[in-house]
Amino acid sequence: MVGWPDPEKSADDVIALETQIADASWSRAESRNRDRTYNPMTPAQLDADAPGFPWSTWLSTARVGEAGQIVIRQKTAFPKLAKIFADSTVEILQGWAAFHLLDQTAPYLSKRFVESRFEFRNKELAGQIEEQPRWKRATQLVNSSLGEAVGKEYVARHFPPESKATMEELVGLLKAALQKRIERLEWMTPETKAKALEKLSMFGVKIGYPNKWRDYSALETDVGDLLGNVRRANEFRWAYAVGKLGKPVDREEWGTTPQTVNAYYSSTRNEIVFPAGILQAPFFDPSADMAINYGGIGGVIGHELTHGFDDQGRKSDGYGVLTDWWQPADAVRFHSEATRYGAQFDSYSVAPGVNVKGAQTMGENIADLGGLLLALDAYRASLHGKPAPVLGGYTGDQRLFLGWAQVWRSKTRPDALKQQVITDVHSPSRFRVDGPMRNVDAWYDVWGLKPGDKLYLKPEDRAQIW
Ligand SMILES: [Zn+2]
Repeated sequence: MVGWPDPEKSADDVIALETQIADASWSRAESRNRDRTYNPMTPAQLDADAPGFPWSTWLSTARVGEAGQIVIRQKTAFPKLAKIFADSTVEILQGWAAFHLLDQTAPYLSKRFVESRFEFRNKELAGQIEEQPRWKRATQLVNSSLGEAVGKEYVARHFPPESKATMEELVGLLKAALQKRIERLEWMTPETKAKALEKLSMFGVKIGYPNKWRDYSALETDVGDLLGNVRRANEFRWAYAVGKLGKPVDREEWGTTPQTVNAYYSSTRNEIVFPAGILQAPFFDPSADMAINYGGIGGVIGHELTHGFDDQGRKSDGYGVLTDWWQPADAVRFHSEATRYGAQFDSYSVAPGVNVKGAQTMGENIADLGGLLLALDAYRASLHGKPAPVLGGYTGDQRLFLGWAQVWRSKTRPDALKQQVITDVHSPSRFRVDGPMRNVDAWYDVWGLKPGDKLYLKPEDRAQIW
């Protein structure tokens, strides 16, 4: 399509090179390990450690050559990657660069490029049948290029101050539930408990939108130049990131836009963040039954709080510093419960021979289990001893479980599902419901489950983490 000489041969070369890179790289499970991925080095040390690639030149070309220290994540992969580069001919590398340039720009070129990319990436690899309508793709592009400018407008139109107040109250209740849960944990020593409670008390919380908005005035856009706009937006984003070098951490900064339907925990900042976008149904509806809301947004808040204490989050302290604050016996116990829980996920299958990877999804699965337990605790506490109303024949506790399940309703193509279990740290939606629930004792009581039921787990087989 671009007149590249001998494209068939180049395509084979690109696949061979990408396969070598993939073989040298760590698995998703390994690259979650925060002890192994934190490797500070100077550029000169990287040059010495991984010879064959001009790292220092590459860093200065990317305008980060001034960095005194860089963090290498997949450390043992770097010498291999450098060797792959050194062993490749210029012709192969040119073909590789041409492919990636086209692959990344195709969505913004003429129709035949857009369609070819869709056929290859979405249809062939992920089973998607139809391209998304143009307005959706356009909205996504504006969101990723001018996110906070759109966010400011979104918040003004769709995020009333009451939503922020309700959310602050809910976060407080969920945090109190986690505090009580830590205090009464039977398996944890008082020394580790004290540190865990200290960390919890230091959690930062961001709700809705940032206090100060990003300034896009330096970004030029041109109505007649889509590809140019994309390039300038990428350049702007990179300059913004490089501009942080050598400066203190901006604690006000957000890692996502207000209109995003998601939430996150940052382990290095020890903070939980809930954008305005997630404060709508099915996660949260101010006019809906609170049991459903606790199962939805309550479970999400509990999930993010638990991330600070999942298998990787637990490795940093209240300041976000990677440090081991655990008594050895507690760490052993945590690890053994987590391993048992992970083995359950290893057994969940999405296609013949394709199973969920327990180690890869460990942090998210632990957060889902914690989120559900904390939502239940907080909901019951919110009743102040009064019985929950029965609605539509369901008790309050039952509706809470239904609320959690409703949040994860989704449909995924079989090929996309296979991709997901290899690349995503989240379990497929179905197992985000079934997986944690069958480890919650209350779930058995609430629905009257008994041995022999499909998802039944013997009490001694249920994981008890937080
Ligand atoms: Zn999560």
